[in-house]
Amino acid sequence: MSFRERIRHELTGRRESAMYRQPLTVRALDGVNLTLKDGRQVIGFASNDYLGLAGHPDIAAAFKRGIDTWGSGSGAAHLVSGHSAAHQALEEELADFLGRERALLFSTGYMANLGTIAALVGQGDRVFQDRLNHASLLDAGLLSGARHQRYAHADSDDLARRLSATTEGETLIVTDAVFSMDGDIASLPKLAASAKRHQAWLMADDAHGIGVLGPQGRGSCAHFGLSAEHVPVLMGTLGKAFGTAGAFVAGDADLIEYLIQRARPYIYTTAMPAALAEATRTSLTLLQDDARRQILNENIAYFRSACAQRLPSGMLMKSPTAIQPLLIGDNARALALSAHLLGSGFLVTAIRPPTVPEGTARLRITLSATHQRAQIDRLIDALAGALKSNP
Ligand SMILES: *Cc1c(COP(=O)(O)O)cnc(C)c1O
Repeated sequence: MSFRERIRHELTGRRESAMYRQPLTVRALDGVNLTLKDGRQVIGFASNDYLGLAGHPDIAAAFKRGIDTWGSGSGAAHLVSGHSAAHQALEEELADFLGRERALLFSTGYMANLGTIAALVGQGDRVFQDRLNHASLLDAGLLSGARHQRYAHADSDDLARRLSATTEGETLIVTDAVFSMDGDIASLPKLAASAKRHQAWLMADDAHGIGVLGPQGRGSCAHFGLSAEHVPVLMGTLGKAFGTAGAFVAGDADLIEYLIQRARPYIYTTAMPAALAEATRTSLTLLQDDARRQILNENIAYFRSACAQRLPSGMLMKSPTAIQPLLIGDNARALALSAHLLGSGFLVTAIRPPTVPEGTARLRITLSATHQRAQIDRLIDALAGALKSNP
């Protein structure tokens, strides 16, 4: 097959199986209110901006001040000349916030995961991952060259069985702390106990937990009262509840020094703009105010109780977090429902394989502290209507 044939074959196949993906162009954005390319106004239930910080004026002001101070770009990688006092301050503040000795910034969460896992394990080692882990973690495990095994979702017995095989090398257990397409929380205490029993390390990706769970939004580890001793490698992203962009890994000083030497996506990428680090410092302060989290949690409870009353049972997945998926099953039906909702003025993404397992296509509804009750009511009205017309 030539490249041209291969490309055409792939595109046709995806169209036919309702797996074709396309970005939507947003023309204007004001909190959860989006204006689309054609001028239509819709309410977004699709972003990961859980606290509504992405549009916060204080963060925008810090960003602008940062540009006045530092310019628009950092100019080089951290180990060359790109590491500013703003990056350094943000790393220290993140470490302090999370109760870890150090934190290390990466330009994206994908790169943080790739860099960290591939630096920690290689040939002769083992990586165990929850079957539903984020793609960046799974890719990292494969790239590392370690023996890569996926255990059944949230099944610590399956993990324990796999761990009991003897090994020469080191063992890393990796999990999403909050599963990005399901919204459920990993049993970190059980995973940490398994890790301890087998002299393994546990790494948690808390992209959807930091800012959402735990006192002051300190995340899933704080939610369970777990420290660095239980979860030595803690990864978080800045593009979700923080409302900016980038990511970090937090851990003890030796781990961070090791990553600085060995994590290739840290070493060989331009540092994020210093202005972005300044913006994120302001975001970190705002994120600790529990008032926004309180509203988010009220919205989650309100949405769940309304769904329980108005939607078919079994459709609402069991999630205590801001990610509230509705299980649809069929790809084409999920797409049709999403299109119907868009027509009614709501942006809700249809998530299909390969992002989720075959036969579990879903509408991934995400809630934010900036959603109003009336908007949630109207979404559920529209959902009930869409389900009637797409049986
Ligand atoms: C979003 C996400 C990432 C990737 O983070 P980016 O900064 O967007 O690259 C990694 N892990 C999980 C669980 C995520 O949800």
